[in-house]
Amino acid sequence: MTEATVGEFTTRASSINRALDQIGDKWCLLIIQEVLWGINSFNEMMAAMGVSRGVLSNRLKWLQEVGCLRREEGVAGSHRPRYHLTSKSIALYDCAMMAITWERDWYQTPALDRVELVHLPCAKPFVAQLRCACCDALVCLRDVSYQPGPGATRDVREKKVRRRSSIAITEVRSEHALYRNLINVVGDRWTSNLIALSFHGLTRFEQFHQELPVATNILSDRLKLLVEEGVLEQVVYQQRPLRYEYHLTEKGQGLFPWFLTLLQWGDTWCDPQGRGKPMQVTHNPCGEQLQAQVHCSECHGVLKAHEVRFTLDGEDMNP
Ligand SMILES: [Zn+2]
Ligand SMILES: [Zn+2]
Repeated sequence: MTEATVGEFTTRASSINRALDQIGDKWCLLIIQEVLWGINSFNEMMAAMGVSRGVLSNRLKWLQEVGCLRREEGVAGSHRPRYHLTSKSIALYDCAMMAITWERDWYQTPALDRVELVHLPCAKPFVAQLRCACCDALVCLRDVSYQPGPGATRDVREKKVRRRSSIAITEVRSEHALYRNLINVVGDRWTSNLIALSFHGLTRFEQFHQELPVATNILSDRLKLLVEEGVLEQVVYQQRPLRYEYHLTEKGQGLFPWFLTLLQWGDTWCDPQGRGKPMQVTHNPCGEQLQAQVHCSECHGVLKAHEVRFTLDGEDMNP
C-alpha cells in the first residue's frame, strides 16, 4: 500500500477524525492488537501479520511519532528492539472491548470463538457493554444528540491518495486479530468517515461529498463496500431519475459504541492545543453530557484491563 499527500482540506474539528488520522489505518489497528498480545519485535509482527517489511516499518515509525508505541532497544543479549504500548495506546482498551462485542454480534470469527473473556471480580465470562456513567442506561445511537463544544473549529487535514492494499484484512494470518472484520470495515479513511457522518444523520451522496473532498468514484466505491458489508442499506427516495439514500442498518448502528469510545479517546489524547472537546455528546434520557463507560454484562462493574482475563482454548493468554 502506498500513499501520497496531494494537498490539504479542512473539516469540522472532530475527535473521531483526529483519532482516525492517528490510528485509523488497518495496519496501525492490527499492530496495536499484536503488541497488546505481547507480539512486539519486528520479525514476530511481520510473521504474525503477513505484512511487508516496508509497510510495517512505516507504520511502526508513525505509531511512535503519534505516541502510541515506545521502542525499547535490545536488552539481555538481544539486538532486536521491542515495541511497547504507551499510556495513550493502553487507553484504547475500551475501544478494543467494544470492537470484540460488535464482532461477536455480527460475525462467526473462529479465532474469537476460541477466546473467552472472564471478568475477575465476578469470575464470569461476559460481554462488554457501553453504559452512561450518569444514568447507567445502555448507550445507543438514537439516544444521543450533538452540540459544538469549546474546541469547535475546523481542522486542516492532509488529503491523501492511498492505493488500496491488495491484501484483504480477512486474509491476514494473525490469530490475535480478534476483530478483523471491524478493522476491515473501519480501517480505511473514507469508510470510517462515512460511518461517522451517518451517525450525524447524513444519508445522501451529495451530503457526504460536501463533507469529504474525495473523488466521486472513490466515494461511490466506499459506499458500495459499506452496502456489501451490510453496514449501510440503499433506500430509494426518488424515482426519476432513480436516487438512493444510504441508511445505517442495525449492524451499522451497532458500530456506534466503538466510535463513541474512539471519540472519547480522541477527546483525551488527540487535542494537542488543549482547546477542549470539539463536540459535546448529550445523552437524551438523562440530559447530561455523555460519559460512556464499558461495563461487564454479568455484574455491571466497570471493566478495567487488569481485571479481565483472556483465555484461548482454556489457556491463559494474558501477556
Ligand atoms: Zn444518561
Ligand atoms: Zn463482572
